[in-house]
Amino acid sequence: MNTRDFIAREDKFGAHNYHPLPVVLEKGKGVFVRDVEGKRYFDFLSAYSAVNQGHCHPKIIKALTGQAQTLTLTSRAFYTSALGEYEEYITNYFGYDKVLPMNTGAESNETALKLCRKWAYKKKGIPENKAKIICCEENFHGRTITIISMSTDPVARNDFGPYTPGFKIIPYNDLNALEKEVKDPNTAGFLVEPIQGEAGVNVPDEGYLKRAYELCKVNNVLFIADEVQTGLARTGKLLGCDHENVRPDILILGKALAGGVYPVSAVLADDDIMLTIKPGEHGSTFGGNPVAAKVAIAALEVIKEENLAWNADRLGNIFRGEFSSIKSEMIETVRGKGLLNAVVIKPKKGNTAWDVCVAMKDNGLIAKPTHDHIIRFAPPLVITEKELREAMEIIKMTFREFE
Ligand code: PLP
Repeated sequence: MNTRDFIAREDKFGAHNYHPLPVVLEKGKGVFVRDVEGKRYFDFLSAYSAVNQGHCHPKIIKALTGQAQTLTLTSRAFYTSALGEYEEYITNYFGYDKVLPMNTGAESNETALKLCRKWAYKKKGIPENKAKIICCEENFHGRTITIISMSTDPVARNDFGPYTPGFKIIPYNDLNALEKEVKDPNTAGFLVEPIQGEAGVNVPDEGYLKRAYELCKVNNVLFIADEVQTGLARTGKLLGCDHENVRPDILILGKALAGGVYPVSAVLADDDIMLTIKPGEHGSTFGGNPVAAKVAIAALEVIKEENLAWNADRLGNIFRGEFSSIKSEMIETVRGKGLLNAVVIKPKKGNTAWDVCVAMKDNGLIAKPTHDHIIRFAPPLVITEKELREAMEIIKMTFREFE
């Protein structure tokens, strides 16, 4: 079978809920992936930042295969020897009293919303069914019915109603709008991405997170950070919130928590919030299973052992510097933090961000457009300076082809 055959098969038997770039991947190692024809590519998407530690990281794969041969799933009906070890490790790592383990980013966002509402009724004293959670325009927190109820993206939302009530949507990076809403005594929480990844790497003004956190504190509103994409060293610090020394009341993690080998997500909070949820009120058959536990410990260890935040910070500066030097009418702006970056593309002679991505693929680098006119560049954080410079040459060459 060749590339065309693989694509035709997915097209025939799979739902059409994605529009992939026409490349069929078969293998991955570090920053590189290979397709079924044997061609090598720089991976500049990293599975939407799930593969921060690089493809098939040996330490993470060892944890995966070792535990897979020992005990894989018991459900949470019983204790396991692995879960407590992970819970202790991750809570110490991020400095919270407790963790609630889940699998996907969407599930952990749902968990955080439930936790926030429970806290609102049990602790803040909001009248039953009145709790309101503030979220931001252009957010992306996943694809469940409740989460798309917060969305302002018609593609994510349209024809999936009726929607879950209880959300107030305000513009991102707008402290005045937030100040007005947190004062409502029925406001329970503010859910925010430190940088809006899916929206096209929207970086808020300096001081936004810090001031938003203060507004929440003064008004007894929970500050909930969705760090599914920005967390785990991607932006040049362990968490996106660390850039402004903000410690979220509820921290949501996913994606790179398992280095891309397994779906692992988590919600972290202190006892005052976390213990409002009682047995039976929330859970997941797979959440916190022994494989997930061991894999997540290894994935978190790699982030520290290999100084991935430091590497992302340093190479991110080089990336944006190099990009700014490219002379192309198609490049409107380059923005980002660490190795979470995006380039806004101005179409030229009918050529769009999609065409640039296809051309980059042909030249040996894969990235994906978001919202038609933006390309996100987010390689695995294990990339070296030499590899980054080599990748930049591919990107520069591609833009020259469009001149
Ligand atoms: N939250 C953010 C900020 C994300 O970027 C994503 C996925 O891109 C999610 C949540 C959803 O994660 P998942 O696809 O694992 O459900």
